[in-house]
Amino acid sequence: MSIQTEREIESPVHPNPGIVGIDLGVARFATLSDGTAIAPGRFFPRHEARLKRLQRALSRKKKGSRNREKVRKKLARLHRNMADARNDFLHKVSTTICKSHAVVVVEDLNVKGMSASAAGTVETPGRNVRQKSGLNRSLLDQGWSAFLRMLEYKADGSGGRVVRIPPQYTSQTCAVCGHVSPENRTTQALFRCVSCGHAENADLNAARNILTQVS
Ligand SMILES: [Zn+2]
Repeated sequence: MSIQTEREIESPVHPNPGIVGIDLGVARFATLSDGTAIAPGRFFPRHEARLKRLQRALSRKKKGSRNREKVRKKLARLHRNMADARNDFLHKVSTTICKSHAVVVVEDLNVKGMSASAAGTVETPGRNVRQKSGLNRSLLDQGWSAFLRMLEYKADGSGGRVVRIPPQYTSQTCAVCGHVSPENRTTQALFRCVSCGHAENADLNAARNILTQVS
């Protein structure tokens, strides 16, 4: 026997009508189109030295030895702590953003694609190569996709929504005049339009482009 019940659930209405574009990166974890910059979580640098030490220690211990098991447990605990700290950071950031904006626009970055693009793509040759090629690459990748998932369910629960746009030339396009050129990107940090001269932080320029793809 089965009993079916049905009830109407009113969809929540988001208290803030705002819309924001977000650029995700390495030097800055996130840059919002309103100019807000969110520094990367500090969970990684703090634990990096210990992580490397334990990994080295593990490789030196004899397989099957009690000492190896001890180090393995320490390493597992450190990994758990790092994951907890990262999730805590991602929760705080995603909650703040979802509370203050009804619509959040992000680039649709699938994790696989991001890892593969560490060496550069046609659009962004070598963007973040140095930073992404290190030990922290997988942690960053996991962080970004976990962050997007959090944004999505939190927006959903509060009557807002997340719009994923295809990543297209957001880092090479001038947010003021629309001119597209790889030469607009003189350094990793600075955007300078070769057509109109508009200059600002490259991540902020990208976030503004991400926003205009929807609004
Ligand atoms: Zn321009």
